[in-house]
Amino acid sequence: MIATKAYAAYNPVTPLAPFDFDRRAVGPHDVQVEILYCGVCHSDLHQARDEWGGSIYPMVPGHEIVGKVVAVGSHVTKFKAGDLAGVGVMVDSCRVCDHCNQHLEQYCVEGMTGTYNGLERDGKTIAQGGYSTQIVTDERWVYSISPKLDLKGVAPLLCAGITTYSPLRFAGVTKGTKVAVAGLGGLGHLGVKFAAAFGAEVTMLSTSKSKEADAKQLGAHNFVLTTDKEQLKQYKGYFDVILNTVAANHSYDTYLNLLALNGKMIIVGIPPKASEVPAGKMLENRRSILGSMIGGTVETQEMLDFCAQHNIVADVELINMQDINEAYERMLKNDVKYRFVIDLASLK
Ligand code: NAP
Ligand code: ZN
Ligand code: ZN
Repeated sequence: MIATKAYAAYNPVTPLAPFDFDRRAVGPHDVQVEILYCGVCHSDLHQARDEWGGSIYPMVPGHEIVGKVVAVGSHVTKFKAGDLAGVGVMVDSCRVCDHCNQHLEQYCVEGMTGTYNGLERDGKTIAQGGYSTQIVTDERWVYSISPKLDLKGVAPLLCAGITTYSPLRFAGVTKGTKVAVAGLGGLGHLGVKFAAAFGAEVTMLSTSKSKEADAKQLGAHNFVLTTDKEQLKQYKGYFDVILNTVAANHSYDTYLNLLALNGKMIIVGIPPKASEVPAGKMLENRRSILGSMIGGTVETQEMLDFCAQHNIVADVELINMQDINEAYERMLKNDVKYRFVIDLASLK
């Protein structure tokens, strides 16, 4: 067993606090990663506070994990001690269903094993995430990281990165596609970077006027303040794709109205409350709404390699583990530029 220090949510209401536990010993197919940085995803907050229901405590959140390999099992082929490595939102799946065979493990027919807030496949051990000093994971769910990239900026790629890369690829975004990204937070800022890197014409849809200059610096060509009706009017029926990363409860109407003929709104944000689907707005312009969850193991590695080639990392604010509760409060005020990343040296 591997002694691990962490921060955990003990229930939905009290602040996260120190928690010590043991990781499993390294098995033949496992990789042990000493965690150096872990991103803070809005999903961590939703789950720590049980906003989606069914949370399991104590819960060590964190699924944007990067670090250094310290040990590998005897059958591991992809890694050796000293390599940089990442772990994302999944740590296992059934491995035999149709979806797993297509490397779409996030849609495993039996359900994927999340990095935290669920049970491991033994049905007993609570999976614990990256607000911790060590993780032990089967190598299929461990990714190689180029030493060329700034490591703390890589951490958010493991969730926010793949969650925006995958649906933009799936929607066929390419040179000239008119893409809007709704919500300039952790996901949104990487969505803008990817859409711009794919050659799209990118528009930021934001509720924060103060983020306009940043949006443009990140690669957006246009900025629309969605609380301003006049600005919205100019983009009625305009976009081929809207990537909706909004974390708070909101109505879909505003965004659907902006979709062109056959336009698609891709939902990646998971607000606590379900939104209504306005039928009239969907019939108009033959619009559609689709959802997308992270990305599979092969696509996650592809995304990381793309980032190494194009020098894409997240814009981060480094925090100590002890600052996590304040970081959650700031995230709720949309006051993040554009991802908090925990420096795990603060726990050692
Ligand atoms: P985040 O950093 O908090 O960003 C969310 C952004 O939403 C905010 O920065 C804000 O941008 C915008 N926003 C906030 N309140 C709003 C409102 N009332 N109306 C419109 N926009 C509003 O969160 P994140 O980490 O990027 O995560 C975003 C969502 O994606 C979360 O719900 C998370 O759980 C979910 N998620 C899903 C997946 C998946 O696999 N599908 C993976 C990861 C995360 P502006 O200031 O620009 O308006
Ligand atoms: Zn996440
Ligand atoms: Zn499966």
